[in-house]
Order: sequence, then structure tokens, then C-alpha cells
Amino acid sequence: MRSLPYFFRGPVVRGFGRGSKDLGIPTANFPESVVDSLPTDISTGIYYGWARLDNGDIHKMVMSIGWNPYYKNKKKSMEAHVIHTFKEDFYGHILSVAMAGYIRPERGFTSLDELITAIHNDIEEAKKKLDLPEHLKLKEDNFFKTSVSTTSNQILNGQHSLL
Ligand code: ADP
Ligand code: MG
Repeated sequence: MRSLPYFFRGPVVRGFGRGSKDLGIPTANFPESVVDSLPTDISTGIYYGWARLDNGDIHKMVMSIGWNPYYKNKKKSMEAHVIHTFKEDFYGHILSVAMAGYIRPERGFTSLDELITAIHNDIEEAKKKLDLPEHLKLKEDNFFKTSVSTTSNQILNGQHSLL
């Protein structure tokens, strides 16, 4: 995919209430405006990369780009599971993401267990891949060095680190 790595940031919004958190894998959802700016060559599926909440530390993350049930699966949705334990929810806060690579396409599951196993595999794969030098260096990108305003509804999309 030509557009990877892909950098973006935006406020965390309420998701579909599918109870991801009850499965132990909460996903921070991004607003439509962020989703609409996705380059066309970024297909649906599971990705790995780095995420930073407001001006905090940079953590590994897995991200799902899928079809949005609210729009009869005609629009995309983007949600990120940050591989870190946070003390509190962070709705409304700014999440900055560097999407580094692709893991697999979207797929259906016949049971909840199967789904959870797949996500845990994705997380392990993301952890391993992100330790490669080419991905580790993304953590040092200027994108993560700029101070993020936590009060404004900042939405930025773009492929380059000049943001
Ligand atoms: P929703 O349907 O509103 O997205 P989820 O069950 O997916 O609800 O939970 C997502 C919320 O959980 C995020 O918006 C965030 O505030 C919180 N959260 C806590 N820890 C994490 C984490 N490690 N990764 C992503 N979101 C987290
Ligand atoms: Mg969610």
C-alpha cells in the first residue's frame, strides 16, 4: 500500500456499543471526518502501528478498518485498540496514530471465541512487527514530537511527518 505509513489524529468518539470493552479489547473509534480522509488505497482490514493519547507516551496498537454498520456498510469505520492499560476512558481526547503495516483482511467469525482468538493473534503479530527497525523508527517521527492541543477538536490527516 503506497499510503503506508499513514499518520492521522483525531478525537475519540463513541463507537457502536458492541461491547468490545467487555471482551477486554476496547477500541477507540474515530469520527467520520477522519475516516472520510483515508486514502483510497488503504483497504479494510487489520493494521498495526503506534498510538499516542494527547501528549502521552507512544504505545503499540492494532487498528481495524471495517464497514460501518450505521451506514448499511457503505461507509468505513476506523477503531484502534491501544496495547496499554489506561486508568480511565478517554472519549473526547486526541489520539495520534501512525499506521505502519497491514496484518489481514476483514473476515467473519462463527463464534465469539474465534473472534477473540483472532484479535489476540493480531495483537501478538503487531507487537512482533513493531519491533522491527523500520517500524521502531516511526516512533521517533516528528509527528509524535509536536505538542497536541487537547482542548480543540483537532483533526489532521496525512501521509507525511510534516503535520
Ligand atoms: P465504543 O463502542 O464506545 O467504542 P468500546 O467498548 O470499544 O466502546 O470501548 C472504547 C473506549 O474504551 C475508548 O473510546 C476509550 O475511551 C476506552 N479505552 C480504554 N482503554 C483503551 C485501550 N487500551 N484502547 C482503546 N480504547 C480504550
Ligand atoms: Mg469501539
